[in-house]
Amino acid sequence: MQDCIFCKIVNKEIPVKAIYEDEQIIAFSDINPVAPVHILVITKKHIANLLDTSPDDAALLGHMMMKIPEIAEIAGVSRDGFRVVFNTKDNGGQTVYHLHGHILGGRFMKWPPG
Ligand code: AMP
Ligand code: ZN
Repeated sequence: MQDCIFCKIVNKEIPVKAIYEDEQIIAFSDINPVAPVHILVITKKHIANLLDTSPDDAALLGHMMMKIPEIAEIAGVSRDGFRVVFNTKDNGGQTVYHLHGHILGGRFMKWPPG
């Protein structure tokens, strides 16, 4: 989708150092990290957020979730643990409307979140 920053990353118009990539997803470090490890996992397909998914996306969403532990392992946070966040719309704090999960780790995560 035009003017979508994550579609530009998918299309290689904006370069990122992928820590994992396959035909359906890309994982790379967040430009503005809020934890020592802050990885974004994005779908290659443009989907605005979880509210914009359809049953046709079930395999893609399953793939994304199944790959998160592998990406966490690559990022070195699987031993001590991590948090996965899908900010969704305004109250969720979503700023980029292209589906992505945040993997946050490298420090203890408080609960409840702010
Ligand atoms: P959210 O606020 O949940 O929509 O997350 C969007 C995230 O994308 C923010 O944490 C931004 O710091 C991050 N971000 C935006 N542009 C880039 C970029 N070019 N490379 C890496 N991360 C980015
Ligand atoms: Zn997009």
